[in-house]
Amino acid sequence: MRVRFFGTRGSIATPSRHTLRYGGNTSCVEVRSNAGTLVILDMGTGAAVLGRELLKDAPPHGHVLISHTHWDHIQGIPFFAPFKIPGSVWDIYAPRGFDRTLRETLAGQMEYTYFPVALEQLGATIRFHELVEGRFRVGDIEVTSRYLNHPALTLGYRLEADGVGIVYACDHEPHSRALATGDGDIAGEDRRHAEFLAGADLVLHDAQYLAGEYRQKVGWGHSTVEYALAVARFAGAKRLALTHHDPLREDRAIDELVAALRSESRRTAGPKVFAAAEGQELELSATRSVAVARPDFPAQAQLGSALVGRSALLAMETPSKISGLSDALRADDVHIIVSDVANAPAAAQRERPMLVLLEDTGDARAAAASRAIRHLAGEPDELPIVLVTPSEPRGDGMENGFSDFLVEPYSPVYARTRIRAWLMRAACHWVRAPTPNDEERRLAATRALSLIETPPEERFDRITRLAAALFDVPIALIALMERDREWFKSRCGLDLCEVPRDESFCGHSVYLRQPLVVADARLDERFADNPYVTGPPGVRFYAGHPLILPDGSCVGTICVLDTRPRHIDNHGLERLRDMADLATRELEFPK
Ligand SMILES: [Zn+2]
Ligand SMILES: [Zn+2]
Repeated sequence: MRVRFFGTRGSIATPSRHTLRYGGNTSCVEVRSNAGTLVILDMGTGAAVLGRELLKDAPPHGHVLISHTHWDHIQGIPFFAPFKIPGSVWDIYAPRGFDRTLRETLAGQMEYTYFPVALEQLGATIRFHELVEGRFRVGDIEVTSRYLNHPALTLGYRLEADGVGIVYACDHEPHSRALATGDGDIAGEDRRHAEFLAGADLVLHDAQYLAGEYRQKVGWGHSTVEYALAVARFAGAKRLALTHHDPLREDRAIDELVAALRSESRRTAGPKVFAAAEGQELELSATRSVAVARPDFPAQAQLGSALVGRSALLAMETPSKISGLSDALRADDVHIIVSDVANAPAAAQRERPMLVLLEDTGDARAAAASRAIRHLAGEPDELPIVLVTPSEPRGDGMENGFSDFLVEPYSPVYARTRIRAWLMRAACHWVRAPTPNDEERRLAATRALSLIETPPEERFDRITRLAAALFDVPIALIALMERDREWFKSRCGLDLCEVPRDESFCGHSVYLRQPLVVADARLDERFADNPYVTGPPGVRFYAGHPLILPDGSCVGTICVLDTRPRHIDNHGLERLRDMADLATRELEFPK
């Protein structure tokens, strides 16, 4: 894998005779796998230079991974020459927002007021992909995305190919203020950040400030060089490239801080440290690889209606905190429930929120409430419970069930972004089954049946009628799984003719290619918050069997549902398989 730096400066392009060596252009890094897959990490002003280079191999194509849409990470886009070349194909990936699409956001900086050429006038084919935390693949490169700590929803990226792991983490502020200034333990969210860096051959890390400067920069969303070294060392990273240099940091000052950090890193057996410089090129080859746990959640999942009708619980007593955090939540259309700290468990049980913010009242009440919520039956383990506290807690708070902390004072945008990340994560946990590996083939086989949107047919309806009677349930369905929806060819006892795939139980059975039984959906974290569980028809029991054609394509399911919890034994599962066989035969032999 080859890495080239085209922009290493943070915040604003800084050309000057004092920034000649490390460079003045803002964030942009080119990564190429040995097989030739091109990934561009961020498109700050450095992208203009990279774009001119890429014109040599026309028509250029590649993948652009944007960390977030602050100016210093996107300003090179209008000047990236390959976007103007007809026949050139580009995929742009960036964090999914709540209100504007990625395309709208990027088109904004190219409106007539700011730039003479609009985004839609560019000659290349540009495809936009919105991401949450998870995994995806571009060419032969496996990518993991993870939220960073910044006053705008920001993703860090880990790329793996050719036996090499690279992590790009700009812009990111330490969660722990003590850690930012070089003290304290790596715990909680900082520890999870370090795990994202685990064993990487190269970490490109935000290192805008020095520990001594941090006090004036709290909440600005950037790391200190001391923090970057501490997490990279903890992670066992082999090389650490400091980047996103402060615009005020001149070449000489960067030399000095690198020299100091190198001796510290040598003393503590840390990674090889250097400051990324514009024009610098690195060739990385496979080393002893470190197995890293990768999320199995697809980073490109459609969250769609994930937040609609969802609620957040503010268990707080101070009116100013309630109103400030309510404003942050309202911006994302989340329903807000307020209770005092002592009544938080009762409110959580009643309302099933997707996020709980608990005020630290200076005594043991918040910890007791958190533990009580964790003990509620059916509450998903991933429910984010966040302590809003005036002082940075020691340790990670796990023993009290806290998943994270919001340390005061915080700015409204900072609180809003943290809340968004918690909501996004919570939404991802339940929203959608992963997409099968053979999805395109599976979709083609489903469409080839020519049954989608056809009227009900007795040959299918008699099967669902029999299934409902056999299992003594009110609802039985024969479902076909399309790209974004589950469509019911036959529905006994249900008025709906389709549901979004995001909210589909059957999606899990299609992914697993195995029967799925949910004895009580309210006690299953995948489905407890599903709108068909919390609202009509009030599903509690589900048993589905995949419908697999002789060529191996799984096109849908037959399933039975009840509004009461129940069990199904092996004998029942065999009967369900019989029904699936009958339905598959009808699919195979039309009319
Ligand atoms: Zn930045
Ligand atoms: Zn930023």
